Amino acid sequence: MLKVNSLPADDKACGWYHTSRPRTPTAPHAGESTARWAVVGAGFTGLAAARRLALNFPDDEILLVEAQEVGFGTSGRNAGFAIDLPHDIGADDYIGDIATAKSTMKLNLLGQTILRELVDEHGIDCSMRMSGKYQAAVEARGVAVLEAYRRGLDRLGQPYQMIDGRELPAHIGTAFYRQALFTPGTVLVQPSALVKGLADSLPPNVTLCEGTAITGVEYGERIVLAHRNGRIVADKLVLANNAFGARFGFLQQTMLPVFLYASLTRPLTEAEQAALGGQPFWGVIPADPFGSTLRRTHDNRILVRNSFSFNPNGLPKEKCLPRCAERHRLSFARRFPMLPEVGFDYTWSGSLALSQNHKGFFGQLAPNVYGALCCNGLGITRGTVTGTLLADWLAGKRSEQIDFLLATSGPSRNPPEPLLSLGVNATLWWGQRKAGFES
Ligand SMILES: Cc1cc2nc3c(=O)[nH]c(=O)nc-3n(C[C@H](O)[C@H](O)[C@H](O)COP(=O)(O)OP(=O)(O)OC[C@H]3O[C@@H](n4cnc5c(N)ncnc54)[C@H](O)[C@@H]3O)c2cc1C
Repeated sequence: MLKVNSLPADDKACGWYHTSRPRTPTAPHAGESTARWAVVGAGFTGLAAARRLALNFPDDEILLVEAQEVGFGTSGRNAGFAIDLPHDIGADDYIGDIATAKSTMKLNLLGQTILRELVDEHGIDCSMRMSGKYQAAVEARGVAVLEAYRRGLDRLGQPYQMIDGRELPAHIGTAFYRQALFTPGTVLVQPSALVKGLADSLPPNVTLCEGTAITGVEYGERIVLAHRNGRIVADKLVLANNAFGARFGFLQQTMLPVFLYASLTRPLTEAEQAALGGQPFWGVIPADPFGSTLRRTHDNRILVRNSFSFNPNGLPKEKCLPRCAERHRLSFARRFPMLPEVGFDYTWSGSLALSQNHKGFFGQLAPNVYGALCCNGLGITRGTVTGTLLADWLAGKRSEQIDFLLATSGPSRNPPEPLLSLGVNATLWWGQRKAGFES
């Protein structure tokens, strides 16, 4: 049996988790069970895969196992941007090959539609709003990025509005930015509330077992998944656990477990809201990928997200949190001098799976083992759509989108250690330094 040698153990300080509806997690798995399908990981990808498998195979039992609580892992600790547009950071105009960009956008839009329909159908209270996003720049280099992206959007035929810095306070309160590119298609959500709601509305032939970390796996005609209190024997396994998929023996030395950091303020008072001004609900992403993401939330808090660390063992580094909280405080103070008394209630980290070629994995990993892995930072829409389409493909369905995903080359191979850590740490250090005031 292959030992799964690293298990998720996120910090306890995620603001989205604590400010969303509390729910009682489902019981952990115990004893021995058999199932036609086992899905590992109940984030956006695993929830989508399990739901669609259940609909495609109404007579089959689907066992969805999650090491932590739903809404507590990365799917509940991101910035909540369900983004429609492609953003290829390897291309001069961030759009690159137009056929690939169109296919990516179709996937993202399908992911958004799936989520919107589920939120409507099940009345999931996750403050989902079609509010668009501002991509904002402070320095000349950032403005050049916006100009390039505008050209790319023209090629793609997508709408946008370029907003001068002098007009931005009417939108987002702060006068900090020199320019912003507004695109209307992004949906903003309270991510932990959304995944909790998705988990509580699964079809009846899905059994969700939270608090069930898979610690060992045996492959063969049937798959055996071992955990602390028992084991599961499944005909087929779907891995939806992002970078932790490598711990199950697949895609090794391809995915990079990179951690991001975010903080959420206390709610602004009415006087502070008046001092801030602008619209009541918005989201800003940075022109520089190493810059700061910001949101004003439905409950009048401000979210700040910046800073990265490379944690090859997939586990958070508690010592980074105070340092990142301080960076968030400085970024907040620069942008919101009118809110000098506002502090953070929460600072947390969350893990991503990045690949050097920005590609994810979709398809078959081994006999009876399938996966949708390596989110590359955009898992809300991407995880939802890849989980759903993987289940469709397993049911024998084909579509233009499934063919596109099957044809992608998957994450590329990384250099061996210690070269890898040296390279990634140097890239992160330099990127964060170069971001300057964008962070
Ligand atoms: C701070 C931050 C900001 C972000 N902002 C955005 C954003 O604005 N928009 C966006 O689209 N994306 C964003 N992301 C990325 C997004 O959160 C991820 O892409 C997404 O969560 C990936 O979903 P997933 O379901 O594939 O994986 P995950 O959400 O990581 O879910 C995988 C699950 O597998 C479980 N698991 C792992 N190993 C095991 C095991 N052995 N046994 C059982 N369970 C296991 C984990 O506990 C986890 O819950 C952000 C991420 C962070 C950290």
